[in-house]
Amino acid sequence: MGLPTQIDPSHHTGLVQISTAKARSNAAPSDAHGGQIVSSKVPAKPGEIRLAEIRPFSFHGKHYVFVVPVTGIFEISELAAEIIRLFLIGAASDGEAVYTAAAIESRSLVADEVVNALRARYTIHSIVQGLSELQVLGVLLTEDGSQPVQAVPFLPKLSGKPFPQRSLVLNVANDCNLGCTYCFASQGDYGAPRRFMSQETARESVDFLLQNSGDHPTVTLVFFGGEPLMNFRLISDTVAYATRAGELVGKRIDFSMTTNATYLTPEIIHFLRDHRVGVAVSIDGPKKFHDLRRTYKNGMGSYDMIQPRIMNLLREHKTRPVAARVTLTHGVTAVSEIFDHLTEMGFDEVGFAPVTSSDDDNYALTPEEFWQVLEEFGKLTAKYVGGVSSTERPRFSNLTNLLADLHQGVIKAYPCGAGLGLLGVGSTGKLYLCHRFLESDEHQVGTLATGVDRARQAEFMAVTHLSAKPPCQICWVRNICSGGCHHEGYKRYGTLGHATIHRCEWIRAWINMGLHAYVEIMEKSPAFLERLEKGDT
Ligand code: SF4
Ligand code: SF4
Repeated sequence: MGLPTQIDPSHHTGLVQISTAKARSNAAPSDAHGGQIVSSKVPAKPGEIRLAEIRPFSFHGKHYVFVVPVTGIFEISELAAEIIRLFLIGAASDGEAVYTAAAIESRSLVADEVVNALRARYTIHSIVQGLSELQVLGVLLTEDGSQPVQAVPFLPKLSGKPFPQRSLVLNVANDCNLGCTYCFASQGDYGAPRRFMSQETARESVDFLLQNSGDHPTVTLVFFGGEPLMNFRLISDTVAYATRAGELVGKRIDFSMTTNATYLTPEIIHFLRDHRVGVAVSIDGPKKFHDLRRTYKNGMGSYDMIQPRIMNLLREHKTRPVAARVTLTHGVTAVSEIFDHLTEMGFDEVGFAPVTSSDDDNYALTPEEFWQVLEEFGKLTAKYVGGVSSTERPRFSNLTNLLADLHQGVIKAYPCGAGLGLLGVGSTGKLYLCHRFLESDEHQVGTLATGVDRARQAEFMAVTHLSAKPPCQICWVRNICSGGCHHEGYKRYGTLGHATIHRCEWIRAWINMGLHAYVEIMEKSPAFLERLEKGDT
């Protein structure tokens, strides 16, 4: 029996696409993270149908399917779920593949076998319609390859071509007054001489950003360090210069900054407010956690110094959201308690990142602690979903970011814009892959004066591309995770382009949690996801 090529809408089986991922079988991806998409025509014997890469799941009595190649989420009918179950083998045959499985095992069937298995309970017409709809949505593939689907994005060839800059992260102070024991920047200087960026270099950075930003109407300048507020005079001058320069060429420059908060005087806070500088504060929760590792160089904790300054910042600075960035380390895994403390202080959003480490660092999270963190993320996720219908802005930014990726149906060949739309500028004007690779000669990709070294950039893009990471090729979260942070992989395995395979199971479990949160929110409050899409949360 063949499959009909048109769907009769009056007989559809209840498949509803609920994320905004488009059926992209012939579409090129929209931005820099993608490159072109290859069509995968899975070979099968004549007459056979097989599953594409999918992850079926059920929640609150409803059935869903996550289509891996397009990052699309579909609600499906009982009949469609039953059709899918017929194709599944072994552990996955309950229709809920375990999140630890890299790929779902499935068998090939001919349409007659599917019809015969289900005709006692469904009409032949509805079964055939169900097969057809699943085919159109890329869930089923047929022997003629008529449903090409995206697999792994092609490696884009960028050598020699300019690439528009969206963000520059300026190392305005290659120095820090604190000595946090887990610092990836060697306590603020990245192993290079302690120095401040000059006014000339900062202004050159602004010119470089504007000249190389292509058609982007808005670009972002990030003040980073070390501790950037050690060089506040430069920040103040650069904001004034960049604002004028942006106006002259009709572009808007957004400013942001990451700070340890120790230098937040009333004067600086008013400046940040008046110039709409987005602020992210590095803080690890209440004093008992924060002071464990966020200390001065003499070992004294910094909490008592920053707490009143942060309260003043949160009271005065309302022109942009103020975020808390928490680094999770050995002994600092009480995510809910930390979240409550920081939201009670008044932070608009709180994001958590496991520390970048090797196993023998004494601050590294143990495997047990990683799973504790996930359990804690589960508590915050439940609260987030429970409160989502209210007008309150959700503050757990890890989940907001994941939901946005799911809703937009992202397909990322790279986990971030590092080396592409985003570059780090070192204190002397050298360009680096991102802020975490500042002052590292090995990761330099040009200078402000000579521009981006296109050959180096192409080399970097080749080794870090998702298609160059073998473990990721069969992973169902690959288009969202993209192999993980380049810096984390580099720190852990000593080479650029290594997937962060030490925590794949964790990443898959977290994205699985996000999928369930997504469909629950879609059921309760679809308008929230629209707000999310517009960046209105
Ligand atoms: S690094 Fe990410 S994409 Fe690669 S296998 Fe692990 S979880 Fe999957
Ligand atoms: S490489 Fe890692 S630290 Fe750098 S921008 Fe990407 S995700 Fe962030």
